Amino acid sequence: MLVSKVEATSEVKANVTSNSHTPKTVKVETVALAKYTTLGVGGPAELWHVESLEDLQAATSEAYRVMGAGSNLLIDDAGVPERVIRLGKSFNSSHEFDGRTELWLGAATPVPGLVRRAAELGLTGLECMLGIPAVLGGAIAMNAGTRHGEIGDVLEAVELFVNGELQIVEPEALKLRYRHSELPKGAIITRAKLKLKKDSPEAIAERLEAVDAARKGQPKVKSAGCAFKNPEGDSAGRLIDAAGLKGYRVGGAMVSIEHGNFIVNLGDATAEDVKHLLREIRKKIEIPLDVEWECWGIEDFNNSSQNNALSQLEDDL
Ligand SMILES: Cc1cc2nc3c(=O)[nH]c(=O)nc-3n(C[C@H](O)[C@H](O)[C@H](O)COP(=O)(O)OP(=O)(O)OC[C@H]3O[C@@H](n4cnc5c(N)ncnc54)[C@H](O)[C@@H]3O)c2cc1C
Repeated sequence: MLVSKVEATSEVKANVTSNSHTPKTVKVETVALAKYTTLGVGGPAELWHVESLEDLQAATSEAYRVMGAGSNLLIDDAGVPERVIRLGKSFNSSHEFDGRTELWLGAATPVPGLVRRAAELGLTGLECMLGIPAVLGGAIAMNAGTRHGEIGDVLEAVELFVNGELQIVEPEALKLRYRHSELPKGAIITRAKLKLKKDSPEAIAERLEAVDAARKGQPKVKSAGCAFKNPEGDSAGRLIDAAGLKGYRVGGAMVSIEHGNFIVNLGDATAEDVKHLLREIRKKIEIPLDVEWECWGIEDFNNSSQNNALSQLEDDL
């Protein structure tokens, strides 16, 4: 539900103009997106680092995609033809996280720092997010979480940039469910209001330990987290392990020895290697497996239910 339309947040208000020229604060580079993904693959695109609402207005004047921390993305070696928008430092409010139980935070705020800081401040609600290398906007877009909870559990409100305006919506409007949200077409999350609770450092530490324990078997090298969604009543990792595929390698991409559902980049993997490996795994497992990642520039792995970016591209900009 739309709560209100806001012209601009205090931080960005001064920069708003109706001009469509490239504002001074925008940095635009044509770069291999591999540099900005945790898997470390992906070809070139025009990358817009935005710092203000004015920047967002300029950046969204042509077809675009939005990137968070790039930790759930497989991007083709050919890159993508659309602009890729990344929210810059002015959307990172790590420094404003000060012990209040309810507060607005920018969408580029890294989640790992929030988890750490919340524990230091005696605030509970974010323990379930331990080990998720997202920024807040990406975590909300994917409703990221673990079996201990998800980001939607602590959301009070979300600020969206839609069609040149900021809107504040209740989380219900985003229809959050398992690793999925329904953002309005073209919407960019700019801020979110979190609601946490006070708790004792001991209780928080205990919950963090439980989440951490579940991650023990996960590889620490370049990856994009779990590659496949778990099929009904089973685990993709178990199926891949049972098929003897751990350590199976195509070029620089390999099924992790530690966890069957992680594909790791050994250093020089290309998207072609990763795609080949995904196809080989699917061929060898009898149960159909859906790819968990969002795939940019690669149509055959996209699940209709998961792809926020493609729905953004349907916009007639
Ligand atoms: C080692 C590892 C462990 C992981 N463990 C988990 C886990 O336990 N649980 C889990 O849920 N995920 C996990 N992931 C996957 C990933 O971290 C999550 O899916 C996360 O939510 C992605 O956030 P991101 O900021 O990296 O977004 P990106 O991967 O950059 O983008 C993901 C989607 O969000 C959209 N998006 C990003 N920012 C915005 C914005 N500001 N406005 C609108 N849309 C936006 C993008 O367009 C895209 O559709 C893991 C990944 C790794 C590498």
